[in-house]
Amino acid sequence: SAPGAYQYPLLIKQLLLSGQRYAPGGEIVSGAHRYDYRQLSQRIARLANVLTEAGIGAGDTVAVLDWDSHRYLEAYFAVPMIGAVLHHVNVRLSIDQIGYTMQHAEDKLVLVHDDFLPIVEQLVDQLPTVQGYIQLNDGEASGRATFETLGEYEVLLAAAEVSYDFPDFDENSVATTFYTTGTTGNPKGVYFSHRQLVLHTLATATTLAAFDGVPLLRSEDVYMPMTPMFHVHAWGIPYVATLLGVKQVYPGRYEPNRLVRLYREEGVTFSHGVPTVLQMILNSEEAESTDLSRWKLMTGGAAPTEALVRKMSERGIRFYTGYGMSETCPILTISHLSPAQAQLSMEEQIALRMRTGVPLPLVELRLMDDVGNPVAADDLSVGEVQVRTPWLTQGYLREPEKGAELWQGGWLHTGDVASINADGVIQIRDRMKDVIKTGGEWISSLLLESLISKHPAVANVAVVGVPDPRWDERPLAMIVPAEGAEVDADQIKAHLMQYVDSGQINKWAIPEQIRVVDSIPVTSVGKLDKKRIRAQLAGQF
Ligand code: ADP
Repeated sequence: SAPGAYQYPLLIKQLLLSGQRYAPGGEIVSGAHRYDYRQLSQRIARLANVLTEAGIGAGDTVAVLDWDSHRYLEAYFAVPMIGAVLHHVNVRLSIDQIGYTMQHAEDKLVLVHDDFLPIVEQLVDQLPTVQGYIQLNDGEASGRATFETLGEYEVLLAAAEVSYDFPDFDENSVATTFYTTGTTGNPKGVYFSHRQLVLHTLATATTLAAFDGVPLLRSEDVYMPMTPMFHVHAWGIPYVATLLGVKQVYPGRYEPNRLVRLYREEGVTFSHGVPTVLQMILNSEEAESTDLSRWKLMTGGAAPTEALVRKMSERGIRFYTGYGMSETCPILTISHLSPAQAQLSMEEQIALRMRTGVPLPLVELRLMDDVGNPVAADDLSVGEVQVRTPWLTQGYLREPEKGAELWQGGWLHTGDVASINADGVIQIRDRMKDVIKTGGEWISSLLLESLISKHPAVANVAVVGVPDPRWDERPLAMIVPAEGAEVDADQIKAHLMQYVDSGQINKWAIPEQIRVVDSIPVTSVGKLDKKRIRAQLAGQF
């Protein structure tokens, strides 16, 4: 550009530079692989060369189907750094849906772990845009593709040039894309630019470093994700960890006992996961015999139940809640304690740490009632969470009409209902579509779930609204008993009566229908699947 036309685009390649500066010897650990930040940069350059040789250029889409690994981290950088788009394929979707997302994203090159070859083998004929496949198999001959591939990742990397001159380009270029999970119909594609990911990384790093005397993540920490890397950039934390130069541990397939062993053996200090995954970790055999008090855990993606938070606190775990969604990159808020609050008793801290939190820097968040007025900061009034921040998807990939619904009046409409207190801390009360409307009043399914979860004989619970001729809807609770425990509907109703007495719920919020079941359907990322629960119940009322 012309002299004087000074421009400095915000690009993902810049996130890689700082970690290397602060901690060149910092480790990346993944299965049998263990290397430092210098080697990480070299491997990213090698991968960029492999991609370029495979015909990938600016604007092309590269799909990854892998467990959490060093390879995935390398792809997080190399693919966008050459101007291509990284498609994180949700390997937990059905084969049909995986096929749909790969067609819709117009994937050109596919990196596929041997464990997912059976899926890709069924789809090969339906993916006309794909020009090549690279196999990921940890260097073990664990399986063979029945279709032609360009070779195995480690072999290709070893043969590639160790340097790459990464270009500057427009910071608004798309860097990543992936698909939402929850709703009916086909998954919807969201996408994020370099600029968006850089700003999300900086704001998240700032926030994680700013907590009650014990920052969640800084250079001396050891990071291990427990939110899959295909799920909303593992909440963006791999970028933050790399920016800070922290040691990173990628656990492969999630197996609770192995995750706890990795925590112990690799000195992990910080992880994040949805509540069901954290619950699994705490219930694992390894966790029983392990001191967990070094662990700082952030949950999000769903409301944590009080039972979970209590259990974590009892194990000495420092616990935080975050909030966001696929459409928001994802992080919007994190629960935050002031230095004074951090001195409070465990009991008082539990309530604070469970709250949905305070918006990150650069996040404008408002709660709007049905008629478009901001709600009072009394923690009782509720409204829809609407946000503006630099890192929101501009719309849905190739579906502008759906994007228009998401974006109204310049604000992204989350579809979540929340209240806000005088300190500006928000609390998600429910999703608009999950709120139970009964006799002109409404009941929060999340609150009922949290209160029911406090009963010691309850392992898992879901509450949904079911049609009712008199009241429109009534709550129905599904309960999975704890191992070896027995529980019936009357015990749960009696348990809930104490919260009526303490004023936390109204008597009419107690469900008449309480069903004891073996399991409750969950989504591809381990959240309660209320859509499927409602489908199971359809026709019964
Ligand atoms: P899906 O909508 O398919 O579950 P997302 O991962 O995008 O996919 O989920 C985002 C939703 O999860 C939010 O809109 C919100 O309803 C819920 N959620 C996320 N974090 C929290 C939280 N801390 N508390 C309550 N609900 C949450």
